[in-house]
Amino acid sequence: MAVTQNPASNGTNAAVPPPTPQPRAVVCPYCGHVSGDTARCARCSGRFDPLSRQATQNAMGPWSFIDPMVPTRAGCSYETLRRLVERGIVRRDTVVRGPSTRQFWMLATRVPGVAHLLGVCHNCQAGTTTDDYACGTCGAVFEVDKDRQHLGVGPIRLIAGQAPAEQVVASMGGVLLEQEPSPVAPTTPAPVVAPQPTPAAPAGAKMSSPNRDSAARKRLAQHHAARARQRAMYVVLTAVLVLAGGAAMFVMGRLAGSNEPPTESSPAESP
Ligand SMILES: [Zn+2]
Ligand SMILES: [Zn+2]
Repeated sequence: MAVTQNPASNGTNAAVPPPTPQPRAVVCPYCGHVSGDTARCARCSGRFDPLSRQATQNAMGPWSFIDPMVPTRAGCSYETLRRLVERGIVRRDTVVRGPSTRQFWMLATRVPGVAHLLGVCHNCQAGTTTDDYACGTCGAVFEVDKDRQHLGVGPIRLIAGQAPAEQVVASMGGVLLEQEPSPVAPTTPAPVVAPQPTPAAPAGAKMSSPNRDSAARKRLAQHHAARARQRAMYVVLTAVLVLAGGAAMFVMGRLAGSNEPPTESSPAESP
């Protein structure tokens, strides 16, 4: 606790400026702990001076790991995480998250870009070295985005109940387009985002009125109809091309056959 100095309490000098308030405790900028020590955090031991703050900023980034001693530790950069692995602070059984996990917590030996620093492939768990670019067994690449400003979170895909049905379907359109090459694409995403009033999502049933549902279904039906028309066009075009080819072959064959007696056909063309 800071020593309280209050010269004005003597009552002899009115020109003395009022005392600046001294904090009794501060919130640690690194771990959020309310520290009674105003120079250094009682929990994470971080110092509060400007140089220490800058040093922490330099090490910050989108990677985090569970540290039971300091559960609210700030995220770090990839380079910092690599050093923590080298120092044995992040180990194989440490739980880590970062851009390669889309910020979901995972065991370090399953995290792309981190597992190989611990000697295993994140994909097949085969042995690796820290210098490997890819797994020699399964071919998984160990390279990750090292931009310290990049969180790596996935794109927003609306789900039923979070938005009006039109927006959900529009969001689903992105999923459909991405999966277009697959012949089962129209049926695959249906159970995930279809705004059906299932008992599991009463809020969704409340938010999506019957009108909105029918409009959404109409748009989905139009989408499928357009694709069906496209397929039909391809079939018709292919049939026309095959027929034209067959006709051409037939005519060529006839011409070749009639080349032997040229006296019959050529006079007819030039009388
Ligand atoms: Zn702290
Ligand atoms: Zn592998």
